[in-house]
Amino acid sequence: MTKENIKLIINYLDKLFPDAKTELYYENEFQLLIAIIMSAQTTDKQVNKANKVFFKVFENPNDWLKLWQNSIQNYLKTIWFYKTKAKNIYRTCEILSKNGLNNFDTIEKLQTLYWVWIKTAKVFLSITKNTQVLGIDTHVHRVLNRLWIVKTKSPLETDKKVEEILKKEDLVRLHHTLILFWRYNCIARNPKCDLCELKQICRYYKEVNLTKNISKNQ
Ligand code: SF4
Repeated sequence: MTKENIKLIINYLDKLFPDAKTELYYENEFQLLIAIIMSAQTTDKQVNKANKVFFKVFENPNDWLKLWQNSIQNYLKTIWFYKTKAKNIYRTCEILSKNGLNNFDTIEKLQTLYWVWIKTAKVFLSITKNTQVLGIDTHVHRVLNRLWIVKTKSPLETDKKVEEILKKEDLVRLHHTLILFWRYNCIARNPKCDLCELKQICRYYKEVNLTKNISKNQ
């Protein structure tokens, strides 16, 4: 992909989402970390619905002392893997109540917490500290491959590649705009290609249309 095309993509996403920011509900950094942990394989909508109630009783890491693991589970019941997530949130809070979230200020340190993966850590640092990183989940991985910014087989591989290709100063902004783009436009099953101004440079769009034309001519 040429530098011009990358610029074109960044500018288009900025135009689509001029006020891009996380859609997760939280009132402090601790709650944001918990919300990101909960959002694995779950929509932000579902997470927010649970957290509007859960965060009333769960404002800081010490609140785990007041709640049994089972009662945390009750608050999370509507989200995927709620039992596992409740257990890991419980363990993470045990550590945070002793050591303080401020001490977990790097990707490596955050990953020592339970159920905090490289993507979780990057999303958290990007939002709270404006750290120039890009959290790669399956969706961001899909969009970057569709556009051929990368040509990779897994989110982890994309994670390694993407920061070599994109400029550091673009990553914080892209972190937010890419999430909104996959959520509302470049959807997994039915991407809204007809409305998309990137179709001229999109590998996925070219491939799909090529296949359609071939089958039409057969
Ligand atoms: S043309 Fe379609 S597949 Fe390509 S980036 Fe736009 S919405 Fe996604």
